[in-house]
Amino acid sequence: MREVNVVVLPGDGIGPEVVAEAIRAVEIVAADAELAITWREELMGGCSIDAHGTALTDDVLAACQAADAVFLGAVGGPKWDTTDPAKPRPEQGLLGLRSGLGLFANLRPVKPLEALWDASPLRRERIAGTDLLVVRELTGGIYFGARGREGDRAFDTCEYTRGEIERVAEVAFEAAARRRAKVTSVDKANVLESSRLWREVVTDIGTRHPGIALDHILVDNAAMQLVNRPSEFDVIVTENMFGDILSDEAAMITGSIGLLPSASLGTGTAGLYEPVHGSAPDIAGKGWSNPMATVLSAAMMLRYSLEAPEAADRLEAAVAQALNEGARSRDLGGELGTTAIGDRLVELLGR
Ligand code: NAD
Repeated sequence: MREVNVVVLPGDGIGPEVVAEAIRAVEIVAADAELAITWREELMGGCSIDAHGTALTDDVLAACQAADAVFLGAVGGPKWDTTDPAKPRPEQGLLGLRSGLGLFANLRPVKPLEALWDASPLRRERIAGTDLLVVRELTGGIYFGARGREGDRAFDTCEYTRGEIERVAEVAFEAAARRRAKVTSVDKANVLESSRLWREVVTDIGTRHPGIALDHILVDNAAMQLVNRPSEFDVIVTENMFGDILSDEAAMITGSIGLLPSASLGTGTAGLYEPVHGSAPDIAGKGWSNPMATVLSAAMMLRYSLEAPEAADRLEAAVAQALNEGARSRDLGGELGTTAIGDRLVELLGR
């Protein structure tokens, strides 16, 4: 048995429900892969504000830094909504984790299953064959640059260094090497100086990966192509704000927020894994949430941090099979609740 340590942060709202179902499924594939996972559950987000007055305590951050991976549900909810800058907010926990763990790349795969093509807002012939991965730079750019306000004037600054671009580009090329060997870099190099540096550096990194095809497109064109020809993308790599917007646009192709996983990676193999959706306070506690995005996030964790790619494949196959056989939660127009979906996955995994 190989032993690994995972910190679990169920968070708020539907977070604990979806995390519990994912852990049930992971336990089965991990045991078969001779992987012994020690789960250490901690508070983060609104629940941590209630208990400790802060969304992320130093102890929890230290536990996350020492772990092989961090597995997160979702945080936030109306109880902690505030516009008072002096009050703690749940998402400060997420930002604290990103910076404390040095997570600079966010990975979001989008691969709509044929059984759900009709749930997409796009016509089936447009989405057929779509299997893409958005790699978004997470710790630089306009969200982190100098900002200010003077009277009626306000500004935000977009800055990137060569090193920041190099490391996220490497993640994208390495991911492409495991996929269909194509990287599309998205920028606004016809206008922005930071984008011109971006294009230069991604091109340089590309020369180190001669087996991977690289093209560059402008962000406005990328926004159009994502709905026009999504199946032509493999890996998309882009800066923080463009990635924020394009990854949400790409997410809509699948037709359900309840199916989208994500990973955030830094240097080394540790990472943070979480569904793309939030804490869904409107359905929290009703037992209606779809745990599949969280299960698929666990699959990414097994693949990228815990070195158990076969176990990851099995989880993904079980989700695909359940959907192909008609298992549908309410977000997909069905009736099955959180536990019923979890039971179905456990059954398909052979228990
Ligand atoms: P949301 O993703 O929580 O919910 C949007 C809609 O999708 C809701 O109708 C919800 O019921 C539905 N939904 C979401 N996940 C679902 C699932 N697994 N199964 C079935 N239906 C699902 O987004 P929101 O309503 O904008 O935000 C709610 C709270 O979550 C806010 O406090 C927000 O700040 C927080 N949030 C947290 C994260 C995170 O933890 N990473 C991300 C986004 C939003």
